[in-house]
Amino acid sequence: MPIFAIVDCNSFFVSCERILNPRLKGRPVIVLSNNDGMVVARSKEAKALGINWDAYHLIRDKIRYHDIQVFSSNYPLYAEMSGRVMSVLKGFAPRVEVYSCDEAFLDVSGVENLDAYGHLIRETVQQYCGIPVSIGIARTKTLAKLANKLAKSSPKVKNGVLNLVDSPYIDEALKRVPAADVWGVGRRWSERLRGNSIVSAYDLAMADERWIMKRFNVVLTRTALELRGVFCLPLLLAPPISKSIMSSMSFGKLVEDFESLRQVISTYAAESAAKMRREGLACSYVVVFLETNRFMDEPQYNPSVKVPLPYATDNTTEIIGTAIAGLEQMFQEGYRYNKGGVMVGGLIPVSERQVSLLDPYDREKVAGLMGALDIVNTTYGPGTLRYGSQGFRNAKWQMRQNHLSTDNNRGLMTDHQQTKRICELGQSTHLIRSL
Ligand SMILES: [Mg+2]
Repeated sequence: MPIFAIVDCNSFFVSCERILNPRLKGRPVIVLSNNDGMVVARSKEAKALGINWDAYHLIRDKIRYHDIQVFSSNYPLYAEMSGRVMSVLKGFAPRVEVYSCDEAFLDVSGVENLDAYGHLIRETVQQYCGIPVSIGIARTKTLAKLANKLAKSSPKVKNGVLNLVDSPYIDEALKRVPAADVWGVGRRWSERLRGNSIVSAYDLAMADERWIMKRFNVVLTRTALELRGVFCLPLLLAPPISKSIMSSMSFGKLVEDFESLRQVISTYAAESAAKMRREGLACSYVVVFLETNRFMDEPQYNPSVKVPLPYATDNTTEIIGTAIAGLEQMFQEGYRYNKGGVMVGGLIPVSERQVSLLDPYDREKVAGLMGALDIVNTTYGPGTLRYGSQGFRNAKWQMRQNHLSTDNNRGLMTDHQQTKRICELGQSTHLIRSL
């Protein structure tokens, strides 16, 4: 019988900001979504002040009153820290499923003292990365998630580790967690379950699986069985090949002119191409789309165009050219656009690409050039080396990020400076050794 541990970083985005600026420790901190729209992460001090997943502009007074520290999402920082946490975790188990940027399942079958191992993992991540984590350990992934939830919220759990393997408290744990909070039970299902007097995780575990199968589906049946300790969901070690890759975002300001849109689309095309190369894929078509703001009382236009490629490719030059051709086909003046993006689809592994004598590109040469582009942009930050059509940084369409992390208020940092700063912190405080 396998045993799983899930390791989940506490208030991950906030914890990352605290690494760059240790003075934030113990103070209420929130992180905002793209364009500084909504609260997406809260420290426990901010939670205690009643901050929820609110719209930023609605809670400005509260933020000022309580002196809450506000940050725009700093994705390069979070990606860097996520990579560090995951590489530490991979040292603790031969099989690790990276479930999200701040969570991973570990196969800890065969470990003798699970409690001690959990605490060792927690201390090591804290020491090497400076990120606090909570850990749930159990015989199924669903039970491990539930243990993790209790490890975070229950005052009875000391030091953020809860082990439910062969525990006499499993029933009590199941009774404490609402069915709606069980991993894989959506809000829609939880309402239907409540209608049938299934309120807690315990009720769901005790329900007749044939009844669940008949009234719901196989997914919820598996969830109920897993709550009973019946192993149904294995680790997903290799993520399935993506069917498509999308790069899109709402603009910082409404955009009307073709030139700005050309920059937007070129930037997202370059982003999609880089993502494809990271996964070793090539695409056979490019979809370009634009959207106006449907909440505004003004003319609406939401076009999209799919442009096929003659040869599957991961070459930024071709993807940008194709995307701009799509934009030219659909662009119409007189509308104010608030979102746009590029999707690359029909993805195949680069190794399975057909070679053609008619192909105008020397694919080996292109791969060398793209490799150099990627090295520069991962070392010095995305967009350091860019195509002319992408325009300059800080164009008006770019995301609002008025509260980006600063280096002790000395000023904004580039992605490269940020990485350097994290490494310096590691060297000076032994947070990060040998990573
Ligand atoms: Mg988390």
